[in-house]
Amino acid sequence: MKQILPKILAGSLSLLAVSAIADGPFYGDPPNATHPWGVHDMNRPQPVHVYPGSFSSDEHPGTPPSDAVILFGGRPEDIEKWQADKPTGEPTKWIVENGLLQCVPGSGYIRTKQEFSDCQLHVEWSEPENIEGASQGRGNSGVFLMGQVEVQVLDSYNNPTYPDGSASSIYGINPPMVNVIRPPGKWQTYDIVFRRPLFKDGKEVDPGYITVFVNGVLTQDHTALEGKGGHKSRSVAQPFPETGPLKLQDHGNPVRFRNIWLRPLPKRAIDGGDTSNMSEEATTAKRAEIAKGIREDAAKLEGTAKMLRLFESIVYQDDAAARKEATAALDAFAGEVKALDAAKLNDKKGDILKVTAALQYLTKFKFIEPENASKTALEQLVNTNGWQKKK
Ligand code: MG
Repeated sequence: MKQILPKILAGSLSLLAVSAIADGPFYGDPPNATHPWGVHDMNRPQPVHVYPGSFSSDEHPGTPPSDAVILFGGRPEDIEKWQADKPTGEPTKWIVENGLLQCVPGSGYIRTKQEFSDCQLHVEWSEPENIEGASQGRGNSGVFLMGQVEVQVLDSYNNPTYPDGSASSIYGINPPMVNVIRPPGKWQTYDIVFRRPLFKDGKEVDPGYITVFVNGVLTQDHTALEGKGGHKSRSVAQPFPETGPLKLQDHGNPVRFRNIWLRPLPKRAIDGGDTSNMSEEATTAKRAEIAKGIREDAAKLEGTAKMLRLFESIVYQDDAAARKEATAALDAFAGEVKALDAAKLNDKKGDILKVTAALQYLTKFKFIEPENASKTALEQLVNTNGWQKKK
C-alpha cells in the first residue's frame, strides 16, 4: 500500500499537468486522409448541450430530453400529429383518453405526419389487463420505423409465440435476446436506435441497424437489417426511402401508448455525415472548410496569436499565402526577441515557449521543413535560459 499510494498520486499529478495544456492546437496527432480533425482537436464543434428528461414510473410517464420531437405527450391535441395510414391521410380513429393513445381495433395503422430517418425513439406501451387470445393474437401492435420495419409490440408475458415475432423482435428477422416484458396492465418502455439501410449505385453499403432496450434491458444489439422483415417470407436487403413516417400497428388489439418521442440522429460518415473516419473526398472538403475558418479567425488577430493561427491552418490545408505570411511573422518574431535584454525577454517567455512548441509540432508532422533558422534560434533561447520543460 505504501508503495502504491505515491504512484497513484504521481499519476493524478501528471494527469493534471497534461489537462492544463490539452486544450490548445499543436497537441494530438494531426488530421489525416480520412480524419478531418486531429486527435483532441479544439477546432471540432463542441457537442450541443441537451437537457436530459426524467425516467418513467409505472404510474407516471417521464419527460423527454430537451431536443426531442414529441410525437405523443398525452395532450388530446397530440393526435393531430398522427393520421390514418391511408392514401387519403384522413384523421385517425385511434383515441386519446386520460393522456393515453389507444388503438381502436379495426381502424387501421396510424402514421406520423412528420417524416424521419435515422433516430433514437422512445415509446411506452401497455397491454389490456383483460387477457384475450394467444400467440400473435394477444396484445399485438408494432412500431414501424420509417413505416418500413417493425419492432414488435406484443403481450409476451407468459405467451409463447414464434421468437422472431415476440415483443421487441425485429419482426421476421431477429428475436430479442431476452424477454423482459412485464405483466399486462403494466407499462413497458422501448428505447430504440435506428439506422436505415444505405445503398449506393444499387449496392448495399450499410445494412442498417436496430438497437432496442426494453424496460432498460438490451434486447437487440445493433442488429443488422435484412430488408424490412415481414410475415412468413424471408426478406431481402433493399434500400429504404430518404425519410418515412413512424407507424403504429392496428393488429386488432386495444394496446395503449404514452410518452412517444424521437430524436433525429446525425448522419453516418457513409451517408455524408461529419464523424470520424470519413471518405477521403469528404475529408479533403472538410479540412478545407476548417482551414478557411481558421484563416478567417486569424485575419481578426494580430502578432503572435495571428501567426500561430495561420500556422495552425496549414495543418488542415496548405495555402501558399498563409504559409508565407506566417513564416514572415515568425522570422520577425525570432529577430525581435533575439534583440531583447534579459528583463524584456523574460516578459516574452510565454510566447517564446508557445511558438517553439508549435514549431516542434509542425516539424514533427512535416508541415514545415526541419531546417528552420528561426526555430533553431528560438530553441537556443529556450535552452540558454533553462526554460525547457523538466522531464
Ligand atoms: Mg405487430
